[in-house]
Amino acid sequence: MAGCIFCAIVTGEAPAHVIYADDDAVAFLDRRPSALGHTLVAPRRHVEHLWDGDAEDVVAVARAVHATAALLHDRLQPDGLTMRQNTGAASGQDVFHLHVHLVPRWHGDGHIGWPTRPDDLPDLAEVQARLTR
Ligand code: AMP
Ligand code: ZN
Repeated sequence: MAGCIFCAIVTGEAPAHVIYADDDAVAFLDRRPSALGHTLVAPRRHVEHLWDGDAEDVVAVARAVHATAALLHDRLQPDGLTMRQNTGAASGQDVFHLHVHLVPRWHGDGHIGWPTRPDDLPDLAEVQARLTR
């Protein structure tokens, strides 16, 4: 899509440090990394949000996520890895082309990485009902 920086990266029009690519997705280093090896995995097709497009877009990302996680594990030997996907500005999404963050983790690295819990915790049965009925 015109004006989308990640579309430009996946087609090679914009520079990026690509570490993995296949027919459907590309993985490249985040330009403002939270950790050594912080990588973004994006589908080649322009999809804004996780809930847009179809399941195949997510499958394309998932396959590349799997390959890229194995690569990061093999080459950087982290103790763990945090996978994060921001959809919508409320979630912190900045670039509106679907992407998954892969952040290698080491013991004691100090990352917290999860929103704080609200004080009034929801009743899980009510939430389940809202989602399934
Ligand atoms: P999000 O907040 O989930 O939309 O994350 C967007 C991420 O994209 C941020 O971590 C940025 O540092 C990263 N980013 C934005 N532009 C580029 C770029 N041209 N190359 C690499 N990473 C980028
Ligand atoms: Zn795009």
